[in-house]
Amino acid sequence: MSISSTAISYYSLNYVENAERDFTEMLEHGCTTVILAVSEFEFDFWRPNIPKIVNAAHKLGLKVLLDPWGIGKYFGGEQVSLFLQNNIENRQVSALTGEKLPAACFNTNSFRDYFQRFCLSLAKETDADGFFWDEPHYAFPKSYASITGGAGDDWACRCPVCMKKFQDYYGYEMPKIMTDDVKQFRWREALFILSDTSRKLKEMKPELEITCCVHATLNTYYVTELRGYDNWDLVASCPYFDVFSTTIISWELPGSFFENITKRTVDVARKYGKQSERWLMNYYKQPADFKQMDEVVDLYERLGVDRLAAWTFKGGYGTVLAAPDALKLWDRLGKNYKRVLKIK
Ligand SMILES: [Zn+2]
Repeated sequence: MSISSTAISYYSLNYVENAERDFTEMLEHGCTTVILAVSEFEFDFWRPNIPKIVNAAHKLGLKVLLDPWGIGKYFGGEQVSLFLQNNIENRQVSALTGEKLPAACFNTNSFRDYFQRFCLSLAKETDADGFFWDEPHYAFPKSYASITGGAGDDWACRCPVCMKKFQDYYGYEMPKIMTDDVKQFRWREALFILSDTSRKLKEMKPELEITCCVHATLNTYYVTELRGYDNWDLVASCPYFDVFSTTIISWELPGSFFENITKRTVDVARKYGKQSERWLMNYYKQPADFKQMDEVVDLYERLGVDRLAAWTFKGGYGTVLAAPDALKLWDRLGKNYKRVLKIK
């Protein structure tokens, strides 16, 4: 078993010349792949340069995946959403209070069309190698979750579209509490937008590679987030996904948590004939002792992970989410990437 891919995310797509310089630095840090975080604003404003940036990465020898970053606040990420700015409907709704939430409902045709057009346009206009589905999720109506008690009782989405779909399928009104029917409904509908878009992308370009990256949660009785993609078997069995990936774990969590998540990620990926991917936190927080990164990389390799990825370029240097020693953290990542790829 060996690591075949080392990816780094990259944002602020604007001038090709800037991107070229940064891509060179990624190569010096042992990266094989760049994940371009394409925001709705960049798609809307910097569109002519996106294909050129993809070409520049290719010319230097990097593989390129596109991440519709934070789109509709449906994917993870800090970016703002034009969809939410330009649409006052098609939002997720709190089950308990009935309030609209600042997140697009991805079970509505409106957002599904928007998302699909975004991805299909990028596939058509660029020579990117694939797409990265980045932490898709139902919104949390409450902004907190407890590590000892799980998330709060409220959930989303109980918007008119979801309620009608539920009523049509089950023959009764969608409950306000999270029953088994509600869980099944949410899983099924959540997977549809990604499955359908992935299928259409592959119909257009069969060589496109799709990674689906879901939250790295335990999903047991005590701690489950119910974000809609927590049934890993269901997600990994989707025939249009090539890579099953689970997200970043905070450096502060115990080693047993890293081991548990990684084993389950590899097992589920293998069960469905997919490659497995694990992430490294390369922004915001850093390990108390940088040796922890080496140990986690060793753990990932030993447990049979196929691909590594890290968020983000330069340790988030210059952003509000920079690690305290951002550039040192980035250098440590580079050393680890080169080590597992056996590059001197
Ligand atoms: Zn909805």
